[in-house]
Amino acid sequence: MENSRHVLVIGGNRFPFHRFEVHGSLIADMIPDAFDVTLTTEKESLTDLSEYDAVVDYLTDSTFTDAQQRGLLTFVEEGGGYLGLHCAADLTSIVSDDPDSHITHRDEPFSALRELVGGHFRTHPEQTTFDVRIVDHFHPVTANLSDLRVYDEPYVLDVDDDVRVLARMDHPDHADMPVVWTHNYEEGKVFYCSLGHDEASLTNGDVRSLIANAIRWLTRA
Ligand SMILES: [Zn+2]
Repeated sequence: MENSRHVLVIGGNRFPFHRFEVHGSLIADMIPDAFDVTLTTEKESLTDLSEYDAVVDYLTDSTFTDAQQRGLLTFVEEGGGYLGLHCAADLTSIVSDDPDSHITHRDEPFSALRELVGGHFRTHPEQTTFDVRIVDHFHPVTANLSDLRVYDEPYVLDVDDDVRVLARMDHPDHADMPVVWTHNYEEGKVFYCSLGHDEASLTNGDVRSLIANAIRWLTRA
């Protein structure tokens, strides 16, 4: 398609959850048909994002080489769109070297990525059904959306004060918790949504509408 916009969706397969071989295609299905979508588990793709208009980040382990991290940050600094989905805000869980253990944890989030996302994941209680309230109907992403109900992990996040929160939840452990936000990162736009643990939310029609709107907004010239 002429002038078709191109989205890179990156995820990983090293954990027994957030399985990209299943979830990658569900995420691709959320992206409007007019977009070209490339799925990858190769972090090296981040070193040259010149052919893309936006990156969808579904990585759990954000251990990057310097070149990979710089490639991603430069892409957004220069106007590229960044959509962090669910585990993209998990900036402390990394692949374990111990073959008996899938996962290990850093004490602090990767600081440059923390700045990019505008917040980071801390913990979550078990999956449950909860309501998400749209709290900003003046933003293009949420202008035509209604509150939604979803079965997902209720993420507890540490969120910067200066992001624009579009949706919140009544969290089981907290009175109130941001679920969706945006902010500007130099010339680029950032959108983050804490939903998306598995098929239940990745196939939820309201979540799909939210992500589709976000992709359109992130890539608008
Ligand atoms: Zn999850």
